[in-house]
Amino acid sequence: MNKDSNKIIIALDYSDKNDVFSLCKKLNPSECRLKIGKQLFTKYGPEIVNQLQDKGFEIFLDLKFHDIPTTVYKACIEAYKLGIWMLNIHLLGGKPMIDAAINAKNEINSNAKLIGVTLLTSHSNEDLEYIGNEKRSDVVNKLSIIANESGLDGIVCSANDIKDIKSEYKNLDFVTPGIRLSNKANDHSTTCTPEEAIKLGSTYLVIGRPITESKDPASVVKEILLSI
Ligand code: C5P
Repeated sequence: MNKDSNKIIIALDYSDKNDVFSLCKKLNPSECRLKIGKQLFTKYGPEIVNQLQDKGFEIFLDLKFHDIPTTVYKACIEAYKLGIWMLNIHLLGGKPMIDAAINAKNEINSNAKLIGVTLLTSHSNEDLEYIGNEKRSDVVNKLSIIANESGLDGIVCSANDIKDIKSEYKNLDFVTPGIRLSNKANDHSTTCTPEEAIKLGSTYLVIGRPITESKDPASVVKEILLSI
């Protein structure tokens, strides 16, 4: 069981780095980590990773790599060289691709956590019909087995998926987006509160808009910390 008490990962889904830096001034790196995704990374590249790490924040680089093994291997090498705390790949990329990401990690001797995305929290059972009529829980379960057998540190899934994951795979870190303080789901088909997510077994909570769109993000972080 992962005992890391720093459980909040803030999704920095901003288009302007000035918004990122003004948010960071209000945050304490011992209370949260930061997630840089496709939008910020495409615009600002490694520079923004380095700038936020220099301010003491640990970075989850959320680029969800999904490509042929050689391409993923090379992309992971560059990502690990940035000294990030966490990196992710899509488990639907298959075992050779997952192994390529692990080989890159070993090659760089990186301590970064490598996490596999199972199904996106926006993916509902109806969405899955066009790729084979399997239920969300069955796909998440199969992918958690691949993640575990491959030696990944954890998976990205909905907190509501954790109860469906077989007990022998519960040693994985569960990184859970779709966290909501109110009943505003946005584009997630499955959500839960921070408190519920921790009770369901989440290791890390990925939280974006409830914090970034708040008038007082620091208070929201404190409120979440108190609730978990
Ligand atoms: O809390 P909010 O809905 O704003 O968080 C959205 C963030 O969660 C986005 O950065 C999105 O990329 C991320 N996410 C994820 N994995 C999922 C679903 C969403 O990393 N399966």
